[in-house]
Amino acid sequence: MNYKTFTEPLINWYLKNHRPLVFRETSDPYHIWVSEIMAQQTQIATMLPYYENWIQRWPSINKLAEADINDVLKAWEGLGYYSRARNLHKSAQLLVEENSAQFPSSVDDMIKLPGIGDYTANAIASIAYKQKAIAIDGNVIRVMSRVLASEKDYLKVKNKNELKVILLNLLEDANPSYFTQALMELGALICLPTSPKCDECPLNQSCLAFKTNTQDNYPLKKVKKKNPVLHYDTFVIIKDKQILMSKDDSDGLMKGLIRLPQQPSKLKLIPIMTSKHIFSHKTWLINVYDDVSFLKENPLYEWVSLESLNNYSIITAHRVILTSLGHLK
Ligand code: SF4
Repeated sequence: MNYKTFTEPLINWYLKNHRPLVFRETSDPYHIWVSEIMAQQTQIATMLPYYENWIQRWPSINKLAEADINDVLKAWEGLGYYSRARNLHKSAQLLVEENSAQFPSSVDDMIKLPGIGDYTANAIASIAYKQKAIAIDGNVIRVMSRVLASEKDYLKVKNKNELKVILLNLLEDANPSYFTQALMELGALICLPTSPKCDECPLNQSCLAFKTNTQDNYPLKKVKKKNPVLHYDTFVIIKDKQILMSKDDSDGLMKGLIRLPQQPSKLKLIPIMTSKHIFSHKTWLINVYDDVSFLKENPLYEWVSLESLNNYSIITAHRVILTSLGHLK
């Protein structure tokens, strides 16, 4: 496998077939940074309107640094993993204070910013600055595990570094931005987790898994630990056009967002509704009650007018409940 059999067909395919995404039409490192952070754990179709709204509201690092964190969290509402929004905001403020609002150009400096890891830094370095940097995410690991018919765990640093060397050699003098995006796009559109479209794949001449019809064997699947299921009693208490909400985020989940009062499940009464929320690492099974007498007092509870409820950033698990009960639009 070499430049002629890998890189050239890959980039030619990319130039003809890639999706016209608005954040691929810019080389502004701030815009690319925002898009990469939003695209983590979120489908492109879902994050696109958020990205457009974000860039319109905060088109520069300076503007984002000046923004109120509550507005930033509100703009993120629905994307989940709110630490991403908090880190973008915090990093923007650090860049204004320490780097004249300039986004750094070296991978080492990018990684010092909160929320930027090895993948994101290398993606920005290659896409925005056209540096010979290799960004390895789940898509790239899937493509390369199959191309190489490799059972290695490329999430391990040693193996990941080996893969970076292989890809750097294949990159040669190609445009690093196209190379990075082509690998990502191939993973997203062609080398799918199940039923890869090998007949349409520009790498099928060099892909060892395709040649041996073993695509489904790669990447090697790890046995997944079962996520814990947690049971909660959650309260929707309404009085005088106000609703009792909680600022208790002591479980570390979605810090800074408000939620309904909630306590570990104990009640054996018939709830007014039940709800299930699946996080990446746990599941909540929720019984919803409207009787305040079963709720323990907590200084972090406070009354919020029902009219203003739409203006708050509320954790998604409880937003769903409030919407089902007609208290949120
Ligand atoms: S030939 Fe098939 S398995 Fe190999 S990289 Fe292409 S889509 Fe993936």
